[in-house]
Amino acid sequence: MARYIFITGGVVSSLGKGLMAASLAALLQARGYRVRIRKFDPYLNVDPGTMSPYQHGEVYVTDDGAETDLDLGHYERFTGVPSRQSDNVTSGRIYQSIITKERRGDYLGATVQVVPHVTDAIKEFARAETDDLDFVLCEIGGTVGDIESLPFIEAIRQLRNEMDRDQTLSIHVTLVPYINAAGELKTKPTQHSVRELAALGVQPDVLLCRCEQPLPETERQKIAQFCNVRAEAVIPALDADSIYSVPLQYHAEGLDDEVLRGFGIRDAQEPDLSRWYDICDRRNNPEGEVTIGVVGKYVGLQDAYKSLHEALVHGGMANRVNVKIRWLDAEVFENEEETLAAQLEPLHGILVPGGFGERGSEGKISSVKFARERNVPFFGICLGMQMACIEAARNTAGIEAAGTTEFRETSEPVVGLINEWMSEEGLQKREHGNDLGGTMRLGAYPAQLLENSHAARIYGDTKISERHRHRYEVNSNYIDQLTSGGLVFSGMSPDGELPEIVERPDLSWFIGVQYHPELKSKPFEPHPLFASFIAAAVHKSRLV
Ligand code: GLN
Repeated sequence: MARYIFITGGVVSSLGKGLMAASLAALLQARGYRVRIRKFDPYLNVDPGTMSPYQHGEVYVTDDGAETDLDLGHYERFTGVPSRQSDNVTSGRIYQSIITKERRGDYLGATVQVVPHVTDAIKEFARAETDDLDFVLCEIGGTVGDIESLPFIEAIRQLRNEMDRDQTLSIHVTLVPYINAAGELKTKPTQHSVRELAALGVQPDVLLCRCEQPLPETERQKIAQFCNVRAEAVIPALDADSIYSVPLQYHAEGLDDEVLRGFGIRDAQEPDLSRWYDICDRRNNPEGEVTIGVVGKYVGLQDAYKSLHEALVHGGMANRVNVKIRWLDAEVFENEEETLAAQLEPLHGILVPGGFGERGSEGKISSVKFARERNVPFFGICLGMQMACIEAARNTAGIEAAGTTEFRETSEPVVGLINEWMSEEGLQKREHGNDLGGTMRLGAYPAQLLENSHAARIYGDTKISERHRHRYEVNSNYIDQLTSGGLVFSGMSPDGELPEIVERPDLSWFIGVQYHPELKSKPFEPHPLFASFIAAAVHKSRLV
């Protein structure tokens, strides 16, 4: 039976609980255990799909088409275990299912309440599909003390009570701030946070203390004493130079040993951490550097492009180079050719990422034009591919009015809304007036690649499956005209209807993809498109 590790956070938000969960899972996996990580989000949105990237960062999409929290991206990158819809639940989703049942009369006249109905639903979610696992790590979003997270903490309390003592473990992640004026690390916020959690019936077994300075032994003892945990279970977590060194750092501090001890496991095998040493070595000892410009809209908040950022880093690891990313605001390029040339000239690669809405789109199209005319390696992702097709239509196929119906009505809809498409479950239809949430082509779809195309050579295959998240498609009625302008449609949906990949064989590296390859890239297994794009950038950097 699976053992459960519950991870809560205290004192402040943004302590990196997701990374902590992913790192601990990776350490347990390195000892041969089968792991899965789940995220409980206390907010009332049903999923983050309709939230602004500025509010919530990137929306991470799973193979089974769920729009989830970006922490699931960390989980997948660190463990290689593909995340699923059933790994992320929000209060909104739980209430939605309870209210649906209530309206159907499923509760047979009972009063529907937070305890037991909401807490039962949370427990059910935590325990679903865990038969083949050794450890389930459950991360609770938010901070202990928030009103929203109370039902989740109560569900943990109940689960711990219902299961055997050595089957669950509670980890609390806190902050031990350094007060400059006093020249000391302060343990009081941790004490208060643990007291708050204990008052809700959950006594932590392990404390992970985020700190900027090494935690002196006296402070460790003090935290242990006041918080009712063993001193060895107070694990200092100093800020790391890179997220990929966190598992090694936590291991050195004894986190996984302490967790196993908490479960009473004495015969665990030593972890094989060789792949973590390898990627840290690649990251810390690069043999060169390339600069990639990302021409986007949400450039003020890096979390909005989390997976993209990591996939570029992985591409760098694959080529043993450091990837310097310039986040460029596409809007600034609109009507300012000089700015555009000045900013794009020094780059070794240009990437136009996914996005929604018209703002900055003309700047993105101008960046594609620059990359095409100057033969700078170009990578267009989702909206980036759509912009590349509009650029091709306007500037190489003579369709001056080319546009996308996403922005406005256009006489030349090179990119348009489709109302039907095939998925593995059969024909999918979009009804007029559907809710905005859940009307996109979402999740894994297969594509057929053109034999001998650049894309097929990079993938080493002609059949691929990649994750999608978009409403609009490149209109296949324009394929002939765009082809005459030099664009090759090297990947299509298996029924031949939907363009998936475009490329320009006359240029050194020019590829646009309708899907999001960044979602599947891992440090140990960099996505082939990112590895190849960075290799092309390295080549370009050596030419100048
Ligand atoms: N806005 C575009 C669409 O909906 C692209 C989406 C994206 O880049 N993820 O089709």
